[in-house]
Amino acid sequence: MSSAPTPTDLSAPDDSDGGPAFVDLGLRAELLGALSALGYEEPTPIQREAIPLLLAGRDLLGQAATGTGKTAAFALPLLQRMPDDRRGGDPVSLVLVPTRELAVQVSEAFHRYGKDLGARVLPIYGGQPIGRQLRALDLGVDVVVATPGRALDHIARGTLRLGSLATVVLDEADEMLDMGFAEDIEAILEHAPAERQTVLFSATMPARIDGLARKHLTDPERIQIGREQPVAGEAPRVRQSAYIVTRAHKPAVLGRVLDVESPTAAIVFCRSREEVDRLTETMNGRGYRAEALHGGMSQEQRDRVMGRLRAGTADLLVATDVAARGLDVEQLTHVVNYDVPSAPESYVHRIGRVGRAGREGVAITLAEPREHRMLKTIERVTGQRIDIDKIPTVADLRTRRMALTQAALRESLLEDDLDPFRVIVESLSDEFDLMEVALAAVKLAHEAALPGSDDEEEIPQVAVRAPRESRPGFEGRGGDRRGGGSRPRTGGTAQVFIGLGRRAGVRPQDLVGAITGETRVSGRDIGSIEIADRFSLVEVPLGVADEVIAGLRNSTIKGRKATVRRDRGGEGN
Ligand code: AMP
Repeated sequence: MSSAPTPTDLSAPDDSDGGPAFVDLGLRAELLGALSALGYEEPTPIQREAIPLLLAGRDLLGQAATGTGKTAAFALPLLQRMPDDRRGGDPVSLVLVPTRELAVQVSEAFHRYGKDLGARVLPIYGGQPIGRQLRALDLGVDVVVATPGRALDHIARGTLRLGSLATVVLDEADEMLDMGFAEDIEAILEHAPAERQTVLFSATMPARIDGLARKHLTDPERIQIGREQPVAGEAPRVRQSAYIVTRAHKPAVLGRVLDVESPTAAIVFCRSREEVDRLTETMNGRGYRAEALHGGMSQEQRDRVMGRLRAGTADLLVATDVAARGLDVEQLTHVVNYDVPSAPESYVHRIGRVGRAGREGVAITLAEPREHRMLKTIERVTGQRIDIDKIPTVADLRTRRMALTQAALRESLLEDDLDPFRVIVESLSDEFDLMEVALAAVKLAHEAALPGSDDEEEIPQVAVRAPRESRPGFEGRGGDRRGGGSRPRTGGTAQVFIGLGRRAGVRPQDLVGAITGETRVSGRDIGSIEIADRFSLVEVPLGVADEVIAGLRNSTIKGRKATVRRDRGGEGN
């Protein structure tokens, strides 16, 4: 369905506010074509800053969280700098990442962007049979994306040779240090040529990262997303909240949130054209009246869409940032960020679409667990709070639908001429109790108004670990460490032992996700989480420990079955 990708597609449409387009950053045609085919309309702020620097061969220290577009910020220049006369052989780029998920994601990104350049990209990580990696390395690769442990294995075997490296990227460096990879990283960098380019991205900049940068980067440029001071002036009257949700559940969550919120008109922001088209189709399939708006559409098409929105024949506008620039729709009550925006400015810009002229607007953000940090950055920059809400449950939805039916009946009782139906009620009342007759009528009205509403499934609540002080029921807990005086304020807690840990790539959010997905326990009830190399310990309220154990035994974590039992040493009381 995508139109022939040409580099010129990427220049921003007429009404853009004038930031540089991808083509202005000096990227080559093959890469521009790939970006166009992916429906990326403009570079994100981190890409704008990082790409020219990296193309010029500079070292870079970037502070940027997931969701900012940091992967493309380093992948595009690396692909561009790949010499034309070589494909295969020893790698010219090495990207170190903390987890196998990220290794796969980053190498997929390289693959998508670099396919017209014929780039060979190989993810290598623990847990995958080494034979396959050996064969691929043997055939020659351009870019290796690796977790530090497995990279070091291959270096020791002589199967990963770093002599040709032009660039090394440390992605999510803070996470790698947190996971105990500091020594591995040092050892790997020792094998890399001294005159290489080094790029370090990290969501946070603790002193240890600074130390790493000082030791291994040469005169680096620094860039930081969300460095801006809180914006002064009058805050828009916008109720702001977010849902933490896995990618797979996003369409369902969007539908449910819209059902509960019942906006007059809403705009849903997506990152790319491709996503706009896909989501528009999905939402129409689910019975919403959605219209797409993106930079690939002609002015005439866009005018038509806006006309339908103003006339009320559409109630959902699915748009990219570029397309929505300069848009002014009176009726808009809700802004939904289908993805976390790539920078705080973009968030502010988006939510400014509602809450105008003294009316209160609503801004809702769907964030993946990994994007939680980006929400915090946005909160800091805007100086406004974004509440993390629970995804409406099936019961919430039913309650809401019942309330709608009740409101409709009340209106009918007050306004409609009901006399023509009296004969039905009278004849039925000979046979049935009046209350029963009313119930049957309500049931029919309810089902007619909201057909097919009974097939909803529960959407698992995913939680991120909230800062300690904001979680109820616990006090002075030891964070990620057990012990440390963790004593619940009320009731008791139990420690649950799970036989998978850091080596299996397990993170706190995986455990929280598995527990909240399999049981009625919410993320807020989960206490401290400790992840050791080969096992994890999770603190849960005593009353639900058995349910948590049963739920985890029934499910998989990171695709694997784990031993789950109560940890004898850790019974709280
Ligand atoms: P990252 O922060 O690298 O994890 O990227 C977040 C997401 O944004 C990924 O799904 C990318 O595919 C997407 N993305 C990155 N850059 C852009 C862009 N310029 N326009 C639209 N989407 C993008």
